[in-house]
Amino acid sequence: NLMLDVKQIRQQFPIYDHNPKLVYLDTAASSLKPKNVIDVVDHYYSKLGVNVHRGVYGLSYEATDLYEAARTTVARFLNAKFEEIVFTRGTTASLNLVASSYQKQLKPGDEIITSELEHHSSVLPWMQVAKNTGATLVYVPLNSEGRITVEAFKSVLTDNTKVVALTYVSNVMGYITPIKEIIDLAHQKSAIVVVDAAQAAPHMKIDVTALNADFLAFSGHKILGPTGIGVLYGKKHLLNKMEPTEFGGDMVDQVELSGATWKDTPYRFEAGTPIISGAIGLGRAIEFIESIGFDEIHAHVHALHQYTLEKLKSVEGITVYNPTSETGIITFNVDYVHPHDAASIFDQNQVCLRAGHHCAQLITKWLKQLATLRATFYIYNDYEDADRFVESVKEAVRFFKAF
Ligand code: PMP
Repeated sequence: NLMLDVKQIRQQFPIYDHNPKLVYLDTAASSLKPKNVIDVVDHYYSKLGVNVHRGVYGLSYEATDLYEAARTTVARFLNAKFEEIVFTRGTTASLNLVASSYQKQLKPGDEIITSELEHHSSVLPWMQVAKNTGATLVYVPLNSEGRITVEAFKSVLTDNTKVVALTYVSNVMGYITPIKEIIDLAHQKSAIVVVDAAQAAPHMKIDVTALNADFLAFSGHKILGPTGIGVLYGKKHLLNKMEPTEFGGDMVDQVELSGATWKDTPYRFEAGTPIISGAIGLGRAIEFIESIGFDEIHAHVHALHQYTLEKLKSVEGITVYNPTSETGIITFNVDYVHPHDAASIFDQNQVCLRAGHHCAQLITKWLKQLATLRATFYIYNDYEDADRFVESVKEAVRFFKAF
């Protein structure tokens, strides 16, 4: 039996009212949104709709309170301090902010460690930084399964390592990186560690204090929250040392003809009118996830994952690239069929999954593929979804065999 009562959960996701036959297996790209998140966003627009931090009237105080309460919720969620939570547009914006700002501290000869498992938003900002500063980008060699191991990390860590930018959970393989050990080792060399937690946040408890992470980023839309909102966690002393990358209203302390000074973190990084409804929605999404519980989410996803893998074993003509994934991601191909062609069969059956390189060309190339198919499970999926997925896989194999 499954850990979660999917029928009851789906009642809280209005999309199922409109698409009762939907088999949604693309949570790694973006999760579905529960009613209470939609409602709180609606509440902001219907009942408040005003700016934060500015107005000296009741509505603005109320909007400000909700916006800052969301920051408190995120801080609690990550076990961080309030000032260490910067609201951004998403993981991509968070990781770019760190890279653009941090590059002033790098010089030729410095080394930045990253990996072929990274999403483009974790590797490309540092590729640019390397180009701009003369620092060197170094890739952790992946093991035969495509994992980052502590041993492999040690083999590239040197006295010149200044930055380590790694994913906590891979969006293609679903592997969990041994990030705590890596952070400890990096700190012995006084390097900072930037963690891409976009795929970790929906699946596991993240404790930035226990991890001792320097920076960590995730997106609202992958954890049941709105699009357009994300988080950058950073240690307070590091954030206060970093120059903002955007300048304008609300981030400034004093402005003179001769120059300006910045507010302390987090406000120095939130120039302009912030993503008010997004932040409020994200706060509510986190409360929703916490009300379910990460142990329960893990058990639920794990059961669906194991069940599906077992069924796929008997399907000839497919390759699964990551049978040992810990987070319920199945990345596979129908042999000799381009995933975009295969995806048309899934689409006909209302099975939503991802086809492509998943914004992670390096690992797709490592797999020696042009592209792959990816199915991911979450709290609103059940065995029927898994069965319909497996049936579609079989149908795709049968259909393309005919050619
Ligand atoms: N990192 C990982 C591991 C991801 O899966 C994603 C989203 N696919 C991102 C970063 C980027 O997130 P966003 O598009 O929300 O900025």
